[in-house]
Amino acid sequence: MNTESRSSLSSRSAAPAFDLVLFGGTGDLAMRKLLPALYRRFMDGLIPADARILGVARSELSCEAFVTKVEAKCRQYLGDAFKDDVWTGFSALLGYVKVDATHAQDYQALSHALAGRADIVRIFFLSTGPDLFAAICRELSAAGIVTPTSRIMLEKPLGEDGESANRINDTVGAIARESQIYRIDHYLGKETVQNLLALRFGNALFEPLWRRGQIRHVQITVAEQLGVESRGDFYDRTGALRDMVQNHLLQLLCILAMEPPANSSADAVRDEKLKVLRALRPIGEADALLKTARGQYRSGVVGADRTVGYREEAGVDPESRTETFVAIKAEIDTWRWAGVPFYLRTGKRLQRAIGEIVITFEAVPHSIFSGPFNADPPNRLVIQLQPDESITLRILAKAPGEAMRLRPVDLSLDLGESFKARPLEAYERLLGDAIQGNLTLFMRRDEVEAAWKWIDPIREAWDADHDGPRPYAAGSWGPTTSSSLIARDGFTWYDETF
Ligand code: NAP
Repeated sequence: MNTESRSSLSSRSAAPAFDLVLFGGTGDLAMRKLLPALYRRFMDGLIPADARILGVARSELSCEAFVTKVEAKCRQYLGDAFKDDVWTGFSALLGYVKVDATHAQDYQALSHALAGRADIVRIFFLSTGPDLFAAICRELSAAGIVTPTSRIMLEKPLGEDGESANRINDTVGAIARESQIYRIDHYLGKETVQNLLALRFGNALFEPLWRRGQIRHVQITVAEQLGVESRGDFYDRTGALRDMVQNHLLQLLCILAMEPPANSSADAVRDEKLKVLRALRPIGEADALLKTARGQYRSGVVGADRTVGYREEAGVDPESRTETFVAIKAEIDTWRWAGVPFYLRTGKRLQRAIGEIVITFEAVPHSIFSGPFNADPPNRLVIQLQPDESITLRILAKAPGEAMRLRPVDLSLDLGESFKARPLEAYERLLGDAIQGNLTLFMRRDEVEAAWKWIDPIREAWDADHDGPRPYAAGSWGPTTSSSLIARDGFTWYDETF
């Protein structure tokens, strides 16, 4: 039994005192997401006044200069939520320690800053490139500042294949037990994704339908209008399969497809997700071209803007073969899901920015409403994750008038409107859970390994394919091979049905 993970999906209680050491504290992720998320938790009374948040980076910065930088970024990213009186309290928790992660002697300053507080929760958030994880872990351990109550939070990417992920996991595993390691997939921190758990396991309504025989197919789409922005160099070494599918899309798939866990404890939920990953039918060289489609955007028009092609982006190799779009037909070899395809799709510079799960149910076994007007589509459950959070059940109803004509109508639920409460940002939730010691929304090592085990052979099959990713115009829905992939089974992508 894991004594450090709390068995609840709730994280809204006040936290005990803690020290949060934020490696990469001056970086983009820290300034744009992590520190504003901590500010919000403080504003909500969830961070005690004796907590401390220590930014750590190589830059020579005084504590005052760091605080000034954080203030500017919090003002920028929090907008109206920034309040001067809240800031006064929050800024008193902030500190800065200059540490070059690779210089052993620099850790003395960190050790000094943490002295006398070894008995409280100590969190090391590694928001640096993964190439620094080994040095940080080695030096933290050598400096003797990893206490039994310490927790290590790791940002993605957790490796670029199974082998490199194992190296990272071994490195961190050498200084902390699995129950002290919080591997972030920030999708799991999204309210909408947790709502999937609520929808499936808080309502008796769906469970009898949630299986083969009732569900025909499932589509999971995470589409971006954005290109690679300022991260061309990183993205060109990574690609959509590693950046999005290995983690976010597979986590969504797990939550949709897993068996009901016995309770909401971290290991009960993660055991069930792991079983889904292990039941994924392997895709290799023999069938990768049939079951996957990859693309790379060319110039085009996105929204109202003319945009350049991927190979013209800063930091990208002009002859790059990196995919900016992936579609995959995933199959889960279990009694529940045999014969039900799960189509995964993600890409950059697509027509719309949307995160959406579409569950298409089987048609009625025999229609009593025959005739030319009644060849309507089957029931669908559409769960929109972003930009807005909504759940829509499409049913058929009789259109007014004398003739018996069936037409689709939507039962729609706008969750933002229904609750009228501010949804938590993903990092607010995840930082809160780590502070509270709740591991449910973090990935366990065996999950990461199982995900790479499925992804690596796809990558290898692509490497052996001389044609490379197929071009698609920015502002479209990806290459034509994506439509063919799903059309081979007699289906279409949901957005193509309008
Ligand atoms: P970034 O803006 O480049 O920041 C990197 C941070 O690491 C800076 O604070 C930098 O500070 C510090 N750093 C670099 N070398 C160091 C060293 N030798 N010793 C100590 N500190 C060092 O990167 P980022 O965008 O914040 O991303 C951080 C990590 O999160 C990356 O692995 C990224 O892939 C991942 N991530 C980022 C995002 C995002 O939205 N940005 C989203 C998901 C995941 P100094 O320059 O002062 O040393």
